[in-house]
Amino acid sequence: MNRIVIPVTEKLFGTTGVRKIYGEEFDLEMALNLGKALGTHLGKGTVLLARDARITGLMVANALTSGLVSTGIDVIDAGIIPTPTLAFITMKQKFDAGIMVTASHNPPEYTGVKFWSRNSMGFTQGEERELEKIYDSKQFNVARWDELGKVSHNESAVDEHIDALLEMCDVDTIRSKSFRVVVDPGNGAACLLTPYLMQRLNCQVVTINGQLDGHFPGRRSEPDEDSLGDLIQMIKKTGAALGIAHDGDADRIVFVTEKGEVVRGDRTIALLAQQALSTSKSKTVVTTVDSSLVLDETVERAGGNTIRTPVGDIQVAVKVVESKGVIGGEACGVFIFPDAHLAPEPFLAACKVLELMARTGKSFGELVTTIPQYPLLKSKIACPNDKKESVMSKIATVLPEKVGDVKEVLTVDGLGITSNQGWVLVRPSGTEPVIRITCEGQSKNAVEKILKITEEVVSSTVASA
Ligand code: MG
Repeated sequence: MNRIVIPVTEKLFGTTGVRKIYGEEFDLEMALNLGKALGTHLGKGTVLLARDARITGLMVANALTSGLVSTGIDVIDAGIIPTPTLAFITMKQKFDAGIMVTASHNPPEYTGVKFWSRNSMGFTQGEERELEKIYDSKQFNVARWDELGKVSHNESAVDEHIDALLEMCDVDTIRSKSFRVVVDPGNGAACLLTPYLMQRLNCQVVTINGQLDGHFPGRRSEPDEDSLGDLIQMIKKTGAALGIAHDGDADRIVFVTEKGEVVRGDRTIALLAQQALSTSKSKTVVTTVDSSLVLDETVERAGGNTIRTPVGDIQVAVKVVESKGVIGGEACGVFIFPDAHLAPEPFLAACKVLELMARTGKSFGELVTTIPQYPLLKSKIACPNDKKESVMSKIATVLPEKVGDVKEVLTVDGLGITSNQGWVLVRPSGTEPVIRITCEGQSKNAVEKILKITEEVVSSTVASA
């Protein structure tokens, strides 16, 4: 048994809620006090609480519950469910807030807490700061013994969510095709929803990594080309029409074609945006700074426009609301359909993909070939954390001129430069002492050239800092 002293962290919330290594950066007292902080912030009311399948989840959820109840807040415990289900039910049943115990796609030793508002949006940075202030002050409400909150349970959240999803898509058309679909929930919370949703759509469902397991024995929790080998094989073996993979808390979804090609989220967003724009009055599509140019081009061709936000689903949701956007999303597999709610909605994305396949009679592979794929390169350069700020501001003054032919310079999240040949995004990592570079170009030559120029500028700036 180790004795561990949890260091006082300077910042509780990261890009999306609290996400930390259990036993090193996070302990139960923090969960207890987060519960008390939320209870104090709300003053009164009812909170819906749920968790993903992580080993630490039940314990952390119980500590949060104790904290909330001690301030007089009632808690409805929904057990293990996907994050989008928590957000949706919080809105639908008009709870005062939702709490999800999850570390999303991070490795199993991580735990975390994400907060949701009644309107189904994750807590904004402003709301997180307010919560953090109460947490740091330790000035918590204390309910009298006979005014403590009550705890009850909800076991129907997933069923309610599935029923609502079926009302938002053309069920009959999808059902008529009886698609064969391979689902890979990655032993995460989607085990409880996606296979059953597919069954309700009359799909022939094959599931791999389909048992809830917080050790994530089947694969890494982040669904990408490297972690989806088994899914690709199973699609080929079964002759399936579509592969579907999720991360640990199932707020992300990645689609794989009938040929076994893992499709980047921004191409799928482009495909679904094209459809949405053809029937919607709103012409705005919201995405993050790291999405492909192909999304902008597709949206423009369909008569719409794109808005870019910093990385993070809440940032996208905020802009979707502000701009009355028709759809929002991130390249990593986040889809936001504001007509449904404001949290990521991977399951509706799956329904929409199947609907499109059923209506057009085309395979998913055929549909995505209409959205070109530009070469994308990534790189990182070591940079001490305390030098990141000065290095980034120096790069901002030098890099645009070196890249040349500049159409647009974005500083919403790091430094983004779009030229006539492609774009580059330079961002300091939030978790490692590195500066990350992502480039995309219309040709291999173009993207290699942009990457080389950027690497040289970043390296020399770091060296002279
Ligand atoms: Mg996630």
